[in-house]
Amino acid sequence: MTSILENRPGLAAEIGRVAEVAGYLWQKGWAERNGGNITVNITEWVDDAMRALPALGEAHPIGKALPHLEGCWFYCKGTQKRMRDLARAPMANGSVIRILPGCTRYEIVADAPVLPTSELPSHLAVHDYLLAKGSPYRASLHTHPIELVALTHSRKWLEKDVATRMLWSMIPETKAFCPRGLGMVPYMLPSSVELAEATIRTLDEDYDVVMWEKHGVFAVDTDIMSAFDQVDVLNKAAQIYLSARGMGFEPEGMSEAQMQELSTVFHLPK
Ligand SMILES: [Zn+2]
Repeated sequence: MTSILENRPGLAAEIGRVAEVAGYLWQKGWAERNGGNITVNITEWVDDAMRALPALGEAHPIGKALPHLEGCWFYCKGTQKRMRDLARAPMANGSVIRILPGCTRYEIVADAPVLPTSELPSHLAVHDYLLAKGSPYRASLHTHPIELVALTHSRKWLEKDVATRMLWSMIPETKAFCPRGLGMVPYMLPSSVELAEATIRTLDEDYDVVMWEKHGVFAVDTDIMSAFDQVDVLNKAAQIYLSARGMGFEPEGMSEAQMQELSTVFHLPK
């Protein structure tokens, strides 16, 4: 069988980045078993030949209408699939889907009839929100970064922007590369509508990375590598904090003035 990626270097490179990130998630210990999800809006790579491809099976309901997804295509991790397998074989562990007219249903188009993640409705709701506000962001990532999740087991770090300020103060790059910080969503049942809605509300407070208490992060960015980078930078800062604590002291952190200077010199968003 011919893969949809053949003779489509742009699409192949995009899926290649997803596979590369999936490998990093596994190597970092953030993607145990089938943990984590990736969904990428690949509409810009779709050509007429792709539009003419038949569906692999029946149409599936999304569960709600997402009107801004009209004509959109996505690559998404398959249900029960492992990131470490996706890293080797992205088209056998993920699927390419297209949203059907009316935006309440989707079809699997390629390469194999792999059912998308059960988190698809919440990921698609985030993409619908991003398109509605004219955002250039096309990738969403959910993963379980160990040190960031550990922080959320303490009330102190769940207060709005308390963890953000601590993480920014550990090393200058954190604020430079994650200038919007880390949003916090209190514990909610995984896969629930409430969690999806709270995630979108928190992204809308102008965060790119949202922390789910005692669970993981949800990050959005222009592409999957950039979304991964933001989580990686934030988790590195958490590791530095925990390393200092492990050495027996509370790290001093950069001062407010030092962080303010960084924002001014590098023109970081407020
Ligand atoms: Zn999870």
